[in-house]
Amino acid sequence: MPVARIQLLNDEVIGKIAAGEVVERPAAAIKELVENSLDAGASAVTVEIRDGGISYFRVTDNGSGIPSGDIRMAFERHATSKITRAQDLHSIATLGFRGEALASIAAVSHVTCTTRTKADASGIKVKNDGGQITSIEEAACPEGTTFVVRDLFFNTPVRLKFLKKPATEAGFVTDLMMRLILSRPDVSFRYINQGKTVYHSAGDGKLESAVFSIYGSEMLRSMRKVEGNQSGVSLKGYVGIGESARGNRGHQSFFINGRYMKSNILSAAVESACRERVMIGKFPSCVLHLTMPYDTVDVNVHPNKLEVRFQNELAVAEAIKNLVHDSLH
Ligand code: ADP
Ligand code: MG
Repeated sequence: MPVARIQLLNDEVIGKIAAGEVVERPAAAIKELVENSLDAGASAVTVEIRDGGISYFRVTDNGSGIPSGDIRMAFERHATSKITRAQDLHSIATLGFRGEALASIAAVSHVTCTTRTKADASGIKVKNDGGQITSIEEAACPEGTTFVVRDLFFNTPVRLKFLKKPATEAGFVTDLMMRLILSRPDVSFRYINQGKTVYHSAGDGKLESAVFSIYGSEMLRSMRKVEGNQSGVSLKGYVGIGESARGNRGHQSFFINGRYMKSNILSAAVESACRERVMIGKFPSCVLHLTMPYDTVDVNVHPNKLEVRFQNELAVAEAIKNLVHDSLH
């Protein structure tokens, strides 16, 4: 067999490989776009999907907008307005920072972005098809940004095949929206699936209102309020025991400095605090916000950024366990 020569991959191939890591399914792409909206200071965000987001999804915000001069750059890989120096990686306060999302989503779909900043008199509408900007034109639009993404993975058939049924993909988006709403009570979210509004949060800044918009009044009333400080962690939220416990951990939501995180350590801490108040085989439900110094948690662990590393894991777990335990007694 002849020895193959080593070559650098071209941009198109690099784009498709990276896209596969960042946007493995519609929910992942939507998460990236909504996080951009939040980073842009939006107070209202609408997410609409059709066919589980596979054929169509839309994210509309009333945030800062993208300056028309920056729009080409926004779609470039590793292009970001959020960090400039390696040092910034130690104190990340925005949700995004890798500058990969727009480039990755555009590489595997048809994207239309309509955007206007406060400073610009008129907005722009940009089309990007499979990673190439195909048109930029002036557009009348309100301040803020709308992304419409069509036919995700149209040019990567293997990825498309790995997607689940539209209903299952829609379920992933619904989970995502639940976490987003619970993570940001100060933002009014509207989530529309197949033309029907599924969630609409008030955005009045109260966690209680956010919990209400997801779980309804009955469940909210049955949940216990948790609040307190220990070991540099400030904890706030609700824990559901008894009737509000669930058959799995799907309704345990943890937010660290506003960011949704999965954490076995935190789940175990809550479960241990609730042990005597939850039937065997059930799991407490919870919506818990942890606030802690940015330099004591590392979120730069994986591109989908769901995992977190605590500087002092045991102290955090102990603090959560104690604070939840105290609030139940
Ligand atoms: P990152 O979020 O890591 O910076 P992205 O690829 O997600 O990278 O976005 C690239 C850039 O495009 C952002 O840094 C931001 O400047 C701009 N941008 C994207 N979406 C929005 C939005 N909804 N509102 C304002 N600016 C946005
Ligand atoms: Mg981003």
